[in-house]
Amino acid sequence: MRRTAVKVCVDPGHGMSNRQMGVFDSGATHVENGFLFREADIALGYGLALKDTLRAEDVNVFMTRDDATDHAPVGKRAAMAKNAACDALISLHLNDVDDDGANGLEVLFRDAEDKALAQKLQDALVKVTKMRDRKITQRTDLAVLKFQGVAVLVELGFIANDGDRAKLLDTQIREAVVRTIADVTIQHLKANA
Ligand SMILES: [Zn+2]
Repeated sequence: MRRTAVKVCVDPGHGMSNRQMGVFDSGATHVENGFLFREADIALGYGLALKDTLRAEDVNVFMTRDDATDHAPVGKRAAMAKNAACDALISLHLNDVDDDGANGLEVLFRDAEDKALAQKLQDALVKVTKMRDRKITQRTDLAVLKFQGVAVLVELGFIANDGDRAKLLDTQIREAVVRTIADVTIQHLKANA
């Protein structure tokens, strides 16, 4: 049987011109032992790893940004993915709150069309990361989730939480996470083709 060609938009959150043209948006930040951790950098690392994993599965990939200099205004990302003829959009972010004790992983979705994929990703990612299950949440207000097609936003963990951050920076966990996102998404798109 011939494989159906699908195209997935991988959207590493934040970055250059996200909120304001020419200004780098770090997203959430956290300083530990004098080192600055930026959500934009960690999300990009996950995005590039997810791109490689998807392409190895013969899935076409469009990146909203490839590095720290690509201009990717948050209000244009959904349209960029649409113009690139993507079937699905996966946005990658890290969570942040003032309370450093907050931890866990959650997947955000817009409507019924996305809910099934969000739940499958949530269950599979909690299993592989052993992070706290913060459940899936419906968000109708997020710009990237206005994408016309399946769209989910994965909050991979909390940047200020020591346990979550240690896991997020572990390359083996990153490989397991992107492998899980790729497998679950490909299966979902095939089942709903
Ligand atoms: Zn973010």
